[in-house]
Amino acid sequence: MSVLVYTENVDGKFKKSTFEAVSYARAVADQNNTSLVAISIGNVSADELTSLGKYGAVKVLNVSGEKLKNFINQAYASVIAEAAKKESADIVVLSNSFSGRGLAPRIGVKLQAGVADGAVSLPDQSGGKFTVKKTAFSGKAFAIVELTSANKVISLIPNSYKLVETGSAAIVEDFAAEAKESDFKAMIKDIVRSTDKVSLPDADIVVSGGRGLKGPENWAMVEELADLLGAALACSKPVSDAGWRPHSEHVGQTGIAVSPNLYIAIGISGAIQHLAGISSSKVIVVINKDPEAPFFKVADYGIVGDAFEVIPKLISAVKEYKASV
Ligand code: FAD
Repeated sequence: MSVLVYTENVDGKFKKSTFEAVSYARAVADQNNTSLVAISIGNVSADELTSLGKYGAVKVLNVSGEKLKNFINQAYASVIAEAAKKESADIVVLSNSFSGRGLAPRIGVKLQAGVADGAVSLPDQSGGKFTVKKTAFSGKAFAIVELTSANKVISLIPNSYKLVETGSAAIVEDFAAEAKESDFKAMIKDIVRSTDKVSLPDADIVVSGGRGLKGPENWAMVEELADLLGAALACSKPVSDAGWRPHSEHVGQTGIAVSPNLYIAIGISGAIQHLAGISSSKVIVVINKDPEAPFFKVADYGIVGDAFEVIPKLISAVKEYKASV
């Protein structure tokens, strides 16, 4: 028995959510007094691979080569399932990223495993049971699911588990996995990134704007605040529908789900469909001129005021703070 963690990379670099998944998988392995093996697919440097040891991976299986350079759901799932069999891993952990959401059920089928997708905390293994708290109904609620199968797959919501450094380098081993031709029926030919700024699903801080901002010409102050905070930009659906912002920034039930440590909502009413995408945020700050706006009900901090007065003041305060430290 062991735990296997899939370590996703972007252009050869591991993401923060990957290190969170490794830290989480290490804790799951510790719960079961077993070892943690990582698997990396794509062309990742030796230094980057050994760095996974810092978060608790003892060994890294490295799958490289032209054919698997870009993410292919079916092929990656086959390779990960094969690695799990090779390592006799009965628990597979991965991040609940865009790729992870596609991989988890496929790996589940291949390993005949129960799947807890969107986990937000460590499994509870008391009383001989294996239960996991996870998001449900597009993030509107939490569910506690019991996995009763011998094999288990857990996908972890980004920013829901802390990074834990254990300090040693991992051993890297090449792994030549067999992916079937039928795994390559749909291939990614090219990747065009929507922005070279902070990636929205992985962002630590998100600054989001709604229809209260009146028009696209007013986004300069939102962008300035986001830049100062090192935050990703997001928006409500009507804003992207109107073409004020790109669809890649649309957050909510029909858009991207985010789980940052800080979500700042400016001029957004807080409709249920918007909240569905942001409810895993740790701290929510709402700026709205209407004190009755529904968003205030889920806010940790609320500012009742006109965004066009509040945001410039906030920008000055952040600049002042940054200059003082
Ligand atoms: P509004 O509802 O118009 O709210 C604007 C807010 O700005 C108001 O609260 C107002 O008080 C405030 N405001 C106005 N002026 C200022 C100012 N100067 N300063 C400060 N505050 C100000 N929506 C999403 O966001 N994501 C989704 O994924 C999504 N999916 C949907 C799916 C379905 C099937 C349906 C039916 C709807 C969906 N919606 C979604 C739409 C959702 O129901 C709301 O209509 C939408 O979220 C409202 O966007 P908004 O808050 O930006 O605009």
